[in-house]
Amino acid sequence: MRLSLTARCNLACPYCCPDSHDPPELLTQAERLQLVSAASALGFRRLRLTGGEPLLHRGLEELVAALQPLRSAPASPGEPGLNEIALTTNGVLLSVERAQALRTAGLDRISVSLDGTDGATVARMAGLAGGPAAGETVLEKVLAALDHAAAAGFDPAAGALKLNAVIARGRNEDQLLPLAQLARQRGIELRLIEFMDVGNRNGWQPDLVLPATEMVRRIGAHWPLVPLGRQAHGTASRWRYRDGAGHLAVVASISAPFCGDCDRLRVTADGVAYTCLFASSGLDLKPWLRASAAAGGNLNEGLHSLWSARHDRYSEQRAQGQSSGTVTTQRPHAEMAYLGG
Ligand code: SAM
Repeated sequence: MRLSLTARCNLACPYCCPDSHDPPELLTQAERLQLVSAASALGFRRLRLTGGEPLLHRGLEELVAALQPLRSAPASPGEPGLNEIALTTNGVLLSVERAQALRTAGLDRISVSLDGTDGATVARMAGLAGGPAAGETVLEKVLAALDHAAAAGFDPAAGALKLNAVIARGRNEDQLLPLAQLARQRGIELRLIEFMDVGNRNGWQPDLVLPATEMVRRIGAHWPLVPLGRQAHGTASRWRYRDGAGHLAVVASISAPFCGDCDRLRVTADGVAYTCLFASSGLDLKPWLRASAAAGGNLNEGLHSLWSARHDRYSEQRAQGQSSGTVTTQRPHAEMAYLGG
């Protein structure tokens, strides 16, 4: 389950187009706990906290700490309960103190997003008004965030710290090798994400997608790679550097969709559940979350029926349509800043 804590972001990446304000009815901390508790009782094992930018949420550390009792008991791994709590962040606000506080609170993993290794590219990809100098400042903060996270105990070698990069053709494809080099030097797995048609306002066009196979080809020509495949229910196909310098992963949602075994549920900051990143509508859980305690059990039933009735396979349909030339119009999608990636 991916739970968005806010739709606001401190960056303005044009491929994501976050909001500068939150929806009016944000979930409260108690409602978030109630929701994750119901989901974990139904069998959801992994939780990712996201946004918008989740570090803008002041109660993030408190939430992570409050979620700890929902973990499955180590002695009974088959029982319902959370196995993992992860965070996706742009890293700008990940200070020494917050990295340490998140670790102490019980966060397991952090994925940091960064789309370039020079000020001009970072400024362009992050939608910064201040040009290369502003990009350089953000870049320094994100690189420091990687240091802070590693120092706090998020061990990249154990997969507890990863780097995400969205690659768009003609926009930052020249960053493939520099990003790979940066990740290799730090022993961090780099996850390259194809530019996706999430939302309605990022100007997505099929020709802006650099297919994952091409990303792997370019990096593999420089540092040979050995394929490791994609784990069941995983989003990323993984590769190992033949020289032993760690791993590379690609998320090929556009060129090689994996709808068939996708098991993600996404809940927006205002409590609307979506069974697909590309869905046009979701199920508002607030009426159940805000019902009287006596009616609270319906939340489990609501989640259960939403989950059992899901049939989304938009990415596969898009791919089929593109190859047969039948899809000419796109249906509206929910925005990425609400769904949280
Ligand atoms: N603000 C946090 C961050 O930057 O990681 C969390 C939210 S962000 C929406 C989560 C991830 O989605 C980021 O790695 C971001 O790059 C990715 N993302 C956003 N829009 C995308 C798009 N159109 N295609 C592919 N990935 C996208």
